[in-house]
Amino acid sequence: MQTLQFSDYIKNYPFEEIKLQLQNINQDCKHTKNKIENILNKSLQYEHIPWNEFLYLISTPALEYLEPIAQIAYKITRKRFGKAILIYAPLYLSNECKSICTYCGFSYNNPIKRRTLSIEEAYEEAMILHNQGIRHILLLTGEDYRNTPVSYIGEVAEKLKNHFSSIGIEVYPLKEEEYKYLRTKGVDSLTIYQETYDPIRYKEVHLQGVKKRMEFRLNCPDRGGLAGLRKIGIGALMGLSDPQTEVAMVGLHAQYLLKKYWKTHITISLPRLKPAENFQNVPVISDKIYVLFLCALRIFLPDVGLILSTRESPYFRDHVIPICITQISAGSKTEPGGYSGKEATEQFHIEDHRSIPEIVEMLKSKELDPVFTDWVYVMK
Ligand code: SF4
Repeated sequence: MQTLQFSDYIKNYPFEEIKLQLQNINQDCKHTKNKIENILNKSLQYEHIPWNEFLYLISTPALEYLEPIAQIAYKITRKRFGKAILIYAPLYLSNECKSICTYCGFSYNNPIKRRTLSIEEAYEEAMILHNQGIRHILLLTGEDYRNTPVSYIGEVAEKLKNHFSSIGIEVYPLKEEEYKYLRTKGVDSLTIYQETYDPIRYKEVHLQGVKKRMEFRLNCPDRGGLAGLRKIGIGALMGLSDPQTEVAMVGLHAQYLLKKYWKTHITISLPRLKPAENFQNVPVISDKIYVLFLCALRIFLPDVGLILSTRESPYFRDHVIPICITQISAGSKTEPGGYSGKEATEQFHIEDHRSIPEIVEMLKSKELDPVFTDWVYVMK
């Protein structure tokens, strides 16, 4: 029997209807403010906030309450996660991609320097990170099933598994059996961002390749959950469609996964679009509303991990990490071979170029605990 998947679940939450609902909440300022005050009183008592109340916390009138919202988010984060901030690093295995996504530097139609690391090269790159203390590593590829098949990802993971306590993947969407196979090779976590939950926009920006199949991607976290992966990360690329509605949908998706795969740790990231090869006109999502989104997610879903990437500036990261973030990347390179200085084009420009020791020092100066291992993989 086919089990319920997220693509079925969200049929009750059409993107355009949620967008309209949020527009009404934004406009009915007096009612919205009363509602926000009630929600904040409940949150102070650590009461659960249902999804329809979460919508008020990400509304435009909620910006006036950013300070108390951030204070509550801070308290919940410390209560649930203590002072621990997990540090991980991405390892780009390849920038070859057969898909065309209008916002991405790796898009098939971009004339960039392409490279796929050999297993040995991937190992060398990984050991550079290992020597800097990294124990949680995230393997990334584009969508090129021929040049970077599942067997290749499995081989890389197998080679690394004795050196890293956690191996994650952020690759093209796979089938449940393929996730199960990768688990046997040492992979324990999956990151798969939907990019946009807006079906119209999804079609406009995904022009070629497997990525065009929105439903297949939407159900990918389900397949990872069914395969028994320990950690699943979801998110939306902020700037592709209406940001408030995207955050509403990410919250809904995370809540659905938390209920259904209760043994799996769910994480959320909201990467803001950055300029890339052939993609320069990037919409601005203000720092203020971005912080509001993160804090509202923390209040709505106290147990999710919240990730802030090196796409953000050092100043911004330094000020936001202590409020509600639980995981960060550090010392990142977004091109294959980047850690050993090989030439290839990066996926996007990063803003925080600080080294791993510098990030550790920054966290300590904020009385946070940098953590390199919060999980150890044990093969049964
Ligand atoms: S977003 Fe992914 S699938 Fe799309 S072009 Fe970039 S690497 Fe390829």
